[in-house]
Amino acid sequence: MMEQLEKVVQEQEDIFHKIQHHEQVMFCNDPETGLRAIIAIHDTTLGPALGGTRMYPYESVDDALEDVLRLSEGMTYKCAAADLDFGGGKAVIIGDPAKDKSPALFRAFGQYVDSLNGRFFTGTDMGTTMDDFVEALKETDYINGIPESYGGGGDTSIPTAQGVVYALEATNQFLFGHKELGSNTYAIQGLGKVGFKVAEHLLQAGADLFVTDINEAVIQKIKQIGAELNRTVTAVTSADIYSVPAHIFIPCAMGGIINEQTVQELQVKAIVGSANNQLASENLIHVLQQKGILYAPDYIVNAGGLIQVADELYGANKERVLLKTKAIYHSLLEIYEEAEQLNITTVDAAYRKCKKTMEKQKHRNNFYAYARRPKWNFHVR
Ligand code: NAD
Repeated sequence: MMEQLEKVVQEQEDIFHKIQHHEQVMFCNDPETGLRAIIAIHDTTLGPALGGTRMYPYESVDDALEDVLRLSEGMTYKCAAADLDFGGGKAVIIGDPAKDKSPALFRAFGQYVDSLNGRFFTGTDMGTTMDDFVEALKETDYINGIPESYGGGGDTSIPTAQGVVYALEATNQFLFGHKELGSNTYAIQGLGKVGFKVAEHLLQAGADLFVTDINEAVIQKIKQIGAELNRTVTAVTSADIYSVPAHIFIPCAMGGIINEQTVQELQVKAIVGSANNQLASENLIHVLQQKGILYAPDYIVNAGGLIQVADELYGANKERVLLKTKAIYHSLLEIYEEAEQLNITTVDAAYRKCKKTMEKQKHRNNFYAYARRPKWNFHVR
């Protein structure tokens, strides 16, 4: 009996140890709809927590907890880096998106989100779609990233691609002393929603491209645009994209592509892309630095979509979003310069920048506490 009690106490201690860096973690259990979810709020220094809801058939509750804790912490830095009035949060629903979804499940989830009374705003992520959140929206206002027909900003790939373009300009400015895009060549991995728009923009600016995609149709489409603009578009295999003689590599497909092998193949001067978690492991940033390859931290480069989602709070406005996205240019340039001055990696410089923003806001939040509160209590829609 005593042993069992000690075990329970130890288990509780373990859980609190795991969530020690988080403000709040909420377990949601609704047997009627089969909803099993965890909402994690990491830090609300900058404002209410913001982060998507992922649905995945986690093997255990522990796996789901680990994922939601890691992702919500990441959101704190993403929001700080983009200078948003939001903190970091994330939710995970334990289940198979192909089998376990129902409108009732997402309405139940919406009720849990609503019970947090504006401390957590969420929307789509891996495994969830806008249709799912149209259901959740029936129960709560605290949903972002919704379709234009429901008053949202719609497709986030437009500001995300625009942000990549600003990041490329900042990189050219830092490395070559000018921000013109046309004088360099680029290697683009993935011509999907983001990569294709970036490729089109670069061709229009007068650049030549190396491209790769597993979808042959998009390769043909970009080649045709290249031909019309009198530019060279060279299609290569998925394996060859790392070793092409381009100035900048633009990963816009999947994460983990910079690994022990590919890092050795790279010929480029910089990596600037939208793909999340590009480095397969943390130590690779040092290898890149030793090779003299400038790395633009992915969450700084791909912030455009998040900027749009956060901006919905003021009512959707595409022009305002694109204007805000422009800040990526200055933000990235600042990170490059600080990394150079302090002889640290760009990943460390980006982290320092986020921490500084949060420190400043901590002070300001206290000062403006009363002025700020009503704004967050009044959700416009
Ligand atoms: P997408 O699915 O529209 O495009 C991905 C493209 O990569 C597709 O054309 C696909 O065929 C291609 N691809 C897949 N595997 C490949 C491989 N092995 N080699 C070459 N090409 C391959 O996705 P997207 O919306 O364009 O996003 C691209 C990346 O940017 C993703 O990593 C995404 O997480 C990230 N991102 C996107 C947004 C956004 O607003 N869409 C925001 C932030 C981050």
